[in-house]
Amino acid sequence: MAPTKRFSGKSVIITGSSNGIGRATAVLFAKQGAQVTITGRDEERLEAAKKQILKLTSKPNDLNVVVANLTDSKGLDDIVNSTLTKFGKIDILINNAGANISDGTLNTDQSIELYQKTFQINFQAVVEMIKKTKEHLIKTKGEIVNVSSIAGNEQAFSATPYYCAAKSALNQYTRCIALDLIQYGVRVNSVSPGVVVTGFLGAMGLPDEFRDKVTTSDDSLEPLNFQMANFMASNKACIPAGFCAKPNDIAEIILFLSDRKKSQYIVGQSIVADGGTSLVTGMTAFDMHEMI
Ligand code: NDP
Repeated sequence: MAPTKRFSGKSVIITGSSNGIGRATAVLFAKQGAQVTITGRDEERLEAAKKQILKLTSKPNDLNVVVANLTDSKGLDDIVNSTLTKFGKIDILINNAGANISDGTLNTDQSIELYQKTFQINFQAVVEMIKKTKEHLIKTKGEIVNVSSIAGNEQAFSATPYYCAAKSALNQYTRCIALDLIQYGVRVNSVSPGVVVTGFLGAMGLPDEFRDKVTTSDDSLEPLNFQMANFMASNKACIPAGFCAKPNDIAEIILFLSDRKKSQYIVGQSIVADGGTSLVTGMTAFDMHEMI
C-alpha cells in the first residue's frame, strides 16, 4: 500500500492561488495529498494553475477550482460553499490573496478610494473568510495561515502606507483571533515575507520600464523577473542573503504552519521570511571597515 502523504484527507482552501505564493502553496499541498480549492479572479491564470496541479495528482476530484473576487461577498460564499459541497469539510484555510494596489498616488497623497480597496483585499477579505469558515474549522480543529508582509512590521515603507497599515492590522488580527480560536482547537498563524518574485509588482501596475523579461528556473512563475528585484538582491542593504525568495520558499513555511505534527506549539505568531531585510538599519547597511 502507498504510504500516506502528509496532508492526505485534508481539505484546504488557498486564496490567491491563481498565481505566485498561493499557486506554489496549492501545488505543494496537492503533492502532499490534500484536497485543494484554488481560487482567483483571472480565469486564464487559474486554468494554468489547475493544469499544473492535475499533472501531479492521480485524483482530479481532489481539486476544486473557483473563479471569485474576494472583495465581493458572493465570491467568498462560492469559495466556501463549493469546498463544502465537494470535500464535505474544511481543515485548513490559507488567506494568501493580497495586493499593494496602485492608482499612481503615493505617500500621504494616496487616495481614499485606494485606502478602501487596499484594506478590502488585504484585511477585510481575510476577516470575512475567517467568519465564514470558523464553524467548519472548529469542527475539524483546523488551521489558519494568513500571508502578511514585512511591510506590516515596525519598519516604515513610506511610499505605500495603506498596504503597510493593512498588513499591520492583519498581524494584530492574527494574534487576537489566535487567542480566541485556540480554545476551540483551531490554530492561527501567519508568515511575513520580504521580497518574493511573483506577479506582485505587476499587480501594482508598475510600468514596463521596471520590468525585465527573464524566464526563471521555476516554471510555476510567470516568465517575469523584475529589475527592481534584481537590484534588491544585489544590494546587501536591501536583502542581506543576496537573493529574492521564490514562491516555494514561502509555500514551505505555510505548509509547516499548517501541519500540526510539525508546529503544534506555535500559536498566533508570524514567521518572518525576508533574507534578513528587516534586520538591516541604515547604519548597518554600510561597510564599517570602509569608513575607518
Ligand atoms: P501575486 O500577484 O503573484 O498573487 C496574488 C494572488 O492574489 C493572485 O492569485 C490574485 O489572483 C489574488 N488576488 C488579488 N486580488 C484579488 C481579489 N480581489 N480577489 C481574488 N483574488 C485576488 O502576488 P504574491 O503571490 O506575491 O502575493 C501573495 C501574498 O503575499 C499577498 O498577500 C502579498 O501581500 C504577500 N506578499 C508578497 C510579497 C512579494 O514580494 N511578492 C512580499 C510580502 C508579502 P487574480 O489576479 O487571479 O485575482
